[in-house]
Amino acid sequence: MIVAMKADALQAEIKAVIDRISNHDLNALPLPGGERTAIGIASAIPPDMRSDLTSLLESMPGVDHVTQVTRTYKRASREFHPGDTLITVKGVTIGGNEVIVAAGPCAIESREQLFSAAEVVKACGGKMLRGGAFKPRTSPYAFQGLGIEGLKMLKEAGEATGLVTATEVMDQHELDAVVEHADIIQIGARNMQNYPLLIAVGKTNRPVILKRGPSATIDEWLLAAEYILAQGNQDVILCERGVHPLERGHTRYTLDLSAVPVARFLSHLPVIVDPSHACGNWRYVSAMSKAAVAAGADGLLMEIHPDPAHALCDGAQSLKLDAFSELITQLRGVAAAVGRGISTPPLPA
Ligand code: PEP
Ligand code: MN
Repeated sequence: MIVAMKADALQAEIKAVIDRISNHDLNALPLPGGERTAIGIASAIPPDMRSDLTSLLESMPGVDHVTQVTRTYKRASREFHPGDTLITVKGVTIGGNEVIVAAGPCAIESREQLFSAAEVVKACGGKMLRGGAFKPRTSPYAFQGLGIEGLKMLKEAGEATGLVTATEVMDQHELDAVVEHADIIQIGARNMQNYPLLIAVGKTNRPVILKRGPSATIDEWLLAAEYILAQGNQDVILCERGVHPLERGHTRYTLDLSAVPVARFLSHLPVIVDPSHACGNWRYVSAMSKAAVAAGADGLLMEIHPDPAHALCDGAQSLKLDAFSELITQLRGVAAAVGRGISTPPLPA
């Protein structure tokens, strides 16, 4: 439910509405707008209370009208927050006109591997360096990541290049270390519905990339975002990374590109796309990256590796550094065609 105040409503009238909502044990969320204030009710309102509460609030001084919010998520919804959310980290804004390129290895394997990827990301105009230190592997015998040592390398690479850094947290016990070493916390697809973890990252002051679970509907994804937002952390970046496929063998998942305009319509949060995990094969990453930018993605999250054939994780879907560089140049035209900017290397004279 949203209570729209009149444009000339007094502060005391706004406060009275908030108090009245709170007296019903409901959570009132002031939403200051350009012309007038609205007050959202972020809790679920018992059905038998709805009509009486609507009449009561509509009778209060300064109230213009009351509308019902149809979505189960509130803070993530455009109904509550019509304007786009912009998230700025180290001078880089996600969710604005510029499409942000984030890239790096699936797993941090060594200082040399990470730094050679980081230098190419930087040289190509990329803004963010990704790299996993704690890896969610399907097999318990597969390389699980360098842990804290990897986080230290990521921090060092971020400081050396000025790139924003992002890394996955899998467990609450690792959260302090991740917050200490990285600029952005990634919640992986497997953990999209790990509610204690979402609550814990919601209590931090770091932006969160929230991957969509491969079997999650868009509403479930936005409700997962709501868990983070409800704890006070407003900086959530939604990331589509492919859903469980009909296809078997040629691609790892199916990139649900329609999720981009749908999530942008339903929510004010930035939406980025990870074509690497969706495709599972470097050969298709370039085409799907271009398609993602054309579909309105606010950014791309890509896996790149100096030597994919010897990667310890996800080599098959990692672009070689020169292929990445070529792709970034090609993305310039796609971004321009949809009225977006993208930071790429200068065109040859
Ligand atoms: C990753 O980004 O390295 C990763 C494990 O991705 P996802 O959670 O989308 O599988
Ligand atoms: Mn990976």
